[in-house]
Amino acid sequence: MPNRHNEKHELERRGLLFVLSSPSGAGKSTLSKMLLDADDNISLSVSYTTRPPRPGEVDGEHYHFTDTATFKKMAADGEFLEWAHVFGHRYGTPKAPVEAALADGCDVLFDIDWQGAQQLYQEAGPDVVRVFILPPSIEELERRLHTRAQDSDEVIADRMSRAKSEIGHWDGYDYVLINDNVEGCFAKVQQILTAERMKRRRQKGLIGFVRDLAAT
Ligand code: 5GP
Repeated sequence: MPNRHNEKHELERRGLLFVLSSPSGAGKSTLSKMLLDADDNISLSVSYTTRPPRPGEVDGEHYHFTDTATFKKMAADGEFLEWAHVFGHRYGTPKAPVEAALADGCDVLFDIDWQGAQQLYQEAGPDVVRVFILPPSIEELERRLHTRAQDSDEVIADRMSRAKSEIGHWDGYDYVLINDNVEGCFAKVQQILTAERMKRRRQKGLIGFVRDLAAT
């Protein structure tokens, strides 16, 4: 009888592309990190960007930092699954690592903006799950951006005005969460991921399993 289970004794299933978007400062990076620490079956898509690194950011870990000419060439060569202009810089998701992770049976987490979520959905609709994180209030968002203290006042003011327009894209997502409490919000992110993984159409091993059940 063929083995319809992986080593964790779960049925084989299609990997999913899990997108977390939010305006800067709404807590998406914290939630992404919590998810990656808690779940061995999901890996982060590390984007390319032409923006300079912030203090503490590591090349290859937070982003692949690159110049505009290299980025443009990669885009022309079709190396990105999606890419967009955000805050005056280019950001793109490299195709190859995503394909490798999915082939490995791993889900992939994307910390990308609404334009990326939209393009990814056009490329891989049924495999994409889109989650948008809202801040509890505009005042709290501004407070968080100042606390992060990585950007100048001018950059923060720019991010605040962009945050308001990003929030306007909430209806392009499958799930919208309000991050007023990070643990509570994280629990909801995990519940969404768990339920999406169990969807019948993602359970590749189900047909064979049921066939075997019926044949016994
Ligand atoms: P930051 O410069 O603060 O790290 O990111 C700015 C915005 O760009 C965030 O909303 C982030 O989610 C988005 N972003 C990061 N990587 C990508 C990417 O590869 N594609 C797209 N479309 N957006 C990205």
